[in-house]
Amino acid sequence: MSTQIYKLTNNVSLLKANRVDNKYYLSGGMFVKNIFVILMALAMLTAPLETLGGLPIGATAEVPIIMYHALEDNPSNRWEITVAEFESDLQWLSENGYTAVFMQDVIDFVHLGKPLPEKPIVLSFDDGRQPAIDIMLPMLEAHDSRITMAIIGAMTDKYTQIAMESNRTQHPHMTWDCVRKAIASGRVEIQSHTYDLHGARGVGKKNGEDLCAYKARLLGDLEKFAQVLVDNVGLVSNCLTYPLGILTEVSDEIIRDAGYLASLSCYEKPNTITVGDYNGLFALNRYLRPPHKSSESFFRGIL
Ligand SMILES: [Zn+2]
Repeated sequence: MSTQIYKLTNNVSLLKANRVDNKYYLSGGMFVKNIFVILMALAMLTAPLETLGGLPIGATAEVPIIMYHALEDNPSNRWEITVAEFESDLQWLSENGYTAVFMQDVIDFVHLGKPLPEKPIVLSFDDGRQPAIDIMLPMLEAHDSRITMAIIGAMTDKYTQIAMESNRTQHPHMTWDCVRKAIASGRVEIQSHTYDLHGARGVGKKNGEDLCAYKARLLGDLEKFAQVLVDNVGLVSNCLTYPLGILTEVSDEIIRDAGYLASLSCYEKPNTITVGDYNGLFALNRYLRPPHKSSESFFRGIL
């Protein structure tokens, strides 16, 4: 079989397409119709994809998020693990090609098309425990890792006040000095765990509370958190970790209106994020890292 190279001129009647077997011999009119289809297909194939930043809109990434709380010598519940277990996690992730990223990096992938590393993972810590931070900073440095810490604004205010009125240097929760030290390390991203909605209901509605009152209460808390964060460290939080993983049908909408770009739930599932899919950043799933389990066993079970 051979093909004939077509010589395109303005006179389509001169155009012929021949194949040796002539099975698909095209008359001028048919040729025009078919060449149009071919040219359109070529145009679609060669047209630049719609992009956002450096990536095509619709590009996806798998981003597992791990949920930690406290590092304790003798874990007494499923939210605490030992220092050795956490360090082992950092080691395992490094040896298996994972790169810990901040939630800001995840947001930048979706909103700005900024590429993520090949195997990204978010190590999220809830509650802003000071002992965990003190222990972790040198470990994060040694393993070239990073965490996203969701602090409770009211707890940080409370222990800052206690620190000012006493000689104590160790507190259950981070003080603003401790938050500043963590940020300065470049290894810790500070995000919101609400100002003071860490009680049994989290951000849930109270009994008998109407939607208007609920929205006003939640927005008031978010505003308070934003105020203390900017006053104390000059930063803005754009990711809310829902206390106790409790969210409502309207909570993502409310926090979006307040300027948040992402939220974290406690559903233990993987995440696929997509460039340009801004809504896909809300209620992201997280895996709880329980104690008394090897890093190999934990990560192999979820990754
Ligand atoms: Zn919490």
